[in-house]
Amino acid sequence: MHPDHEHRFQRIISDYLQRPGGDYVELLCRGHVSSPAGVDPEQWRAEIRAQARKDKIRVTTTRHGNGAFAVRQRSVSDDELRSELMRVEPLRKPAATARELGHDPGSWLRSGDDSIAVCARCNARIYVCTTTPPVTDGEALSRTCSSSGERPA
Ligand SMILES: [Zn+2]
Repeated sequence: MHPDHEHRFQRIISDYLQRPGGDYVELLCRGHVSSPAGVDPEQWRAEIRAQARKDKIRVTTTRHGNGAFAVRQRSVSDDELRSELMRVEPLRKPAATARELGHDPGSWLRSGDDSIAVCARCNARIYVCTTTPPVTDGEALSRTCSSSGERPA
């Protein structure tokens, strides 16, 4: 994988794991977020709602056991739907290529124009930058899946 792509790939992974913008940014990016373990769910809901009010976006928060869940309420316009389809379209071909090589790419993580996926069996990577034309990289597009016999017991 090209070092630039490698760098972006790692950044998306660590952003995803660490939620650097906090739960509210996570909500904006992903459309939903659940409260981290150990926080007061009522206080968490109040904070999410307060930030949403400031930004004039509509969210619904619900209590769920010892935690809470927030979902962004939005109606999707035709333009948004079209641009979403245009973002997803360039991911279909690399995902199909990876599957032909025996990989199981799973779901995509997205950050701006960059999208990444990892084979659930052998951790081979796919990187796609959905510019025109799209840039694709990663060993899952050039190597067959090495899951057979290499999985640790
Ligand atoms: Zn694989």
